[in-house]
Amino acid sequence: MDMKTLEISIIGAGIGGLAAALALARTGAKVTVFEQAEALGEVGAGLQISPNGVAVLEALGLRADAAKLATTPEAVVLRDYRGGEVARLAMGKTAEARYGRPYWQFHRADLLKLLENGARAAGVTLVFGHKLAGVKPQPDGVDLEFTSGVHHHTSCLIGADGVRSTLRDLVFEGQPASFTGHVAWRGLVKAEKLPAGLFENAAQVFMGKGRHLVAYPLRGGSLINFVAVEERKSWAAEGWNIPDTAENLRAAFTGFGSPVQALLNAVEETFLWGLFNHPVLPRWHKGRVVLLGDACHPMLPYLAQGAVMGLEDAYVLARSLEAADTPEAGLAAYEMARKPRATRVQKGAAANARAYHLRNPLVRGAAHKALALMPQGALIGRFDWLYALDVTAVREA
Ligand SMILES: Cc1cc2nc3c(=O)[nH]c(=O)nc-3n(C[C@H](O)[C@H](O)[C@H](O)COP(=O)(O)OP(=O)(O)OC[C@H]3O[C@@H](n4cnc5c(N)ncnc54)[C@H](O)[C@@H]3O)c2cc1C
Repeated sequence: MDMKTLEISIIGAGIGGLAAALALARTGAKVTVFEQAEALGEVGAGLQISPNGVAVLEALGLRADAAKLATTPEAVVLRDYRGGEVARLAMGKTAEARYGRPYWQFHRADLLKLLENGARAAGVTLVFGHKLAGVKPQPDGVDLEFTSGVHHHTSCLIGADGVRSTLRDLVFEGQPASFTGHVAWRGLVKAEKLPAGLFENAAQVFMGKGRHLVAYPLRGGSLINFVAVEERKSWAAEGWNIPDTAENLRAAFTGFGSPVQALLNAVEETFLWGLFNHPVLPRWHKGRVVLLGDACHPMLPYLAQGAVMGLEDAYVLARSLEAADTPEAGLAAYEMARKPRATRVQKGAAANARAYHLRNPLVRGAAHKALALMPQGALIGRFDWLYALDVTAVREA
């Protein structure tokens, strides 16, 4: 298709939306991103980007700049709740040698800025303060309406509007999400507030009964990012900016060992996120409307792949549209190419939740022993299907 004839609108300037904007602009399409927020937010959180996600950053021409912002962990260390080491997975150069690309950690705001700058440089128009309220399909595209009353006509509409997608509700039949019984606190702690050397340059997972905490360094080790997950009956909403008190967080992790206690004692600000299971969406595209990222396959964070899948979606969507004769055929090809993998990751992330939180101490002890005995190659090899695939090198049939 001659991409220059397409005027594409994207709803949502998250990782998925901005990556799609950049990928599409590089094909020659005219791209506008509409974002409800007044500016890109400074969400204080980390993002692990595995080699399959780095492949997309590289194909979008961002690898060198991304490398300056990334922290590369030397290992992933699984620990019991007291801090004892259960298993150690070499990352750093080992992961890079195995997959051809590194495993990186970013401050979310840094990665968003990188994608925003890339998109602007490629000619993308970003429009802030525009919240999508309605859509009306037309033979040659879609009419959009924003809550401000502004109207816009587009030849192709991409919903990258996240886990609580408006476009998904307006156009696609999804089933309601169900609370998993897991909540996640997130936050950042300045490393200078912690005893020196408490956290090595690694992603560490502390696993306890019905709870686990992941901690890893960002911005050259000056910040420690944490995600602390607890199983509980009471419900919490799904969203990035729902504050909770550090006291509640500390209370949930009493009994954990000194590294976790020291980290949590230094927490000043934290946010709580309710984790929901979203049934697989039957369709991702309809006519000239399509979804990507969390809008179509929201997943639990236990494989650290939500943003990475958004990056992969973005690249494949642009390539599928470019290769097709019509926008409708391009969107259908994208859905066909992406759905099996995204669904597998969605299900894999849900399965990981159970493994981290084994309640029975005997089962937990046996599982930890099995992990400890696993050779390095077998440990990291469990992720080959995920990390080794480079979607930028694969051509759809
Ligand atoms: C605790 C936690 C840790 C995580 N860690 C990782 C990790 O390490 N690695 C990883 O790959 N993933 C991780 N994830 C998942 C990752 O954060 C998400 O999958 C990713 O941010 C989704 O990107 P997105 O662009 O699809 O949606 P979002 O980032 O949610 O962006 C959606 C955008 O759309 C805008 N929007 C919404 N509705 C409208 C509307 N009606 N009109 C206009 N704009 C709208 C929003 O304001 C937002 O800017 C984690 C998730 C959680 C909860």
